[in-house]
Amino acid sequence: MEDVRSLLRHIPKVDEVLMDGRLLFFYKDTPRNVIVDSVREKLDSIRGDILEGRLSEISSKDELIADIVSSIVEKKKKNLRRVINATGVVLHTNLGRAELSEEAARAVAEVADSYSTLEYDLKRGQRGSRQDIVEAAVRKVTGAEAAMVVNNNAAATMIVLAAMARGKEVVVSRGELVEIGGSFRIPDVMSESGAYLKEVGTTNKTKPSDYENAYDEELTAAFMKVHTSNYRIVGFTEDVSLTDMVELGRKFHVPVIYDMGNGLMADLHRYGVNEPTVKDAVAAGPDVILFSGDKLLGGPQAGIIVGNKKYIDLMKKHPLARAFRVDKMTLAALETTFYQYQDEDRAMKEIPVLRMISASEKALSEKAKKLIKLLEESCGGFRYEEEECLDQVGGGSAPTDYLKGRAVALLREGVAAEKVERLLRKAELPVIARINHDRVLIDVRTVKESEFAGVAAAVNYVDAILTDKEGEH
Ligand SMILES: *Cc1c(COP(=O)(O)O)cnc(C)c1O
Repeated sequence: MEDVRSLLRHIPKVDEVLMDGRLLFFYKDTPRNVIVDSVREKLDSIRGDILEGRLSEISSKDELIADIVSSIVEKKKKNLRRVINATGVVLHTNLGRAELSEEAARAVAEVADSYSTLEYDLKRGQRGSRQDIVEAAVRKVTGAEAAMVVNNNAAATMIVLAAMARGKEVVVSRGELVEIGGSFRIPDVMSESGAYLKEVGTTNKTKPSDYENAYDEELTAAFMKVHTSNYRIVGFTEDVSLTDMVELGRKFHVPVIYDMGNGLMADLHRYGVNEPTVKDAVAAGPDVILFSGDKLLGGPQAGIIVGNKKYIDLMKKHPLARAFRVDKMTLAALETTFYQYQDEDRAMKEIPVLRMISASEKALSEKAKKLIKLLEESCGGFRYEEEECLDQVGGGSAPTDYLKGRAVALLREGVAAEKVERLLRKAELPVIARINHDRVLIDVRTVKESEFAGVAAAVNYVDAILTDKEGEH
């Protein structure tokens, strides 16, 4: 008992620890509470250990401070952190979908910490509209008559249905009742919007006559086509093309809505990606088309609605427009991205999503060799091999298309791939790798050359931990 009391008396006071020079160093850029919490937690845990008899001696001051410092460093880590995507999945849903172009990122930074012309007309010195910021560029690139931007494509679907079909029926094929990422389901969005889903056809076959039979002069508000972004129905199938749906719409004087998801602007068929482009969709003539900003478009998270001015104006005036509106940073990124699309050849090089998808096997192989050379020079703990692999577009796009890519396999005798993969995620700048046939792969398609040093740092970190462990035996 006496021992416990004397140990407790020897626990340093919070204020005393806070004055340690090694902690004072953090005051410059760390909220004081973060430092105080780390000190308190450490001292509390020592107190608990003493009371429960787990501690018979108080650790040295150096050890104490070292523990507190690592706790502060841990607390300073943001929840939203940069990572290196070494999975080869270009639009990785869990890693933030599309990477913005350098120019788009710069545009975001510029408006983020300054005032801007978000809703201000510089020429007239009066209030302007945030919808005008990108509308002209979107119209120009897509060929559409009018355009509007909301938070994401889910919001776009919602506002389109609410503005055009509330209280009425929207006819959709049973083969196109898509679910995207869990919470977005066409039937659910439809009922939330106040429109009624009128399912037609079957899972594998829908014919023009199905839409014709579903048409009701009183009830039908629209025919809607939904791109089966994240799945394909194969075998004995039949669906009604967008062109045929437009024809049906004209025949019955019913607007045609096309939810196309991806927002692809440049034709990627020659790179093995079989997805329709927005330009082709606009040319087919539906009344309204909606798509995501951060899938194959390669911009920020956004939902873009293009089409006949008559309908776009309805949505701009709808009460949901305010709830779904985008902020200045999104608009800055989107405006720059669309600006870049005015020259498609340049867009292919400057917009990361397109650059990564169009990278040739030869270029990827050279990139892998370059990474291997760097790793061999800077980290001897592993053996490195170039490996052929199959990459995916991801983000619920082109689900059946695989792109031939290259990866660097990290090999080390007697260490499980899962362990290396897990440790790579714990690095200061985490690397998200993939595992294939028990080999850890750094897929170079989605890793920029400017990130190679970061990969090397992570591999060195893993090597140091593994070497430490091996030394223990
Ligand atoms: C991805 C997708 C959506 C949802 O878009 P978000 O931008 O993720 O909200 C809706 N419809 C289709 C067809 C999609 O592919």
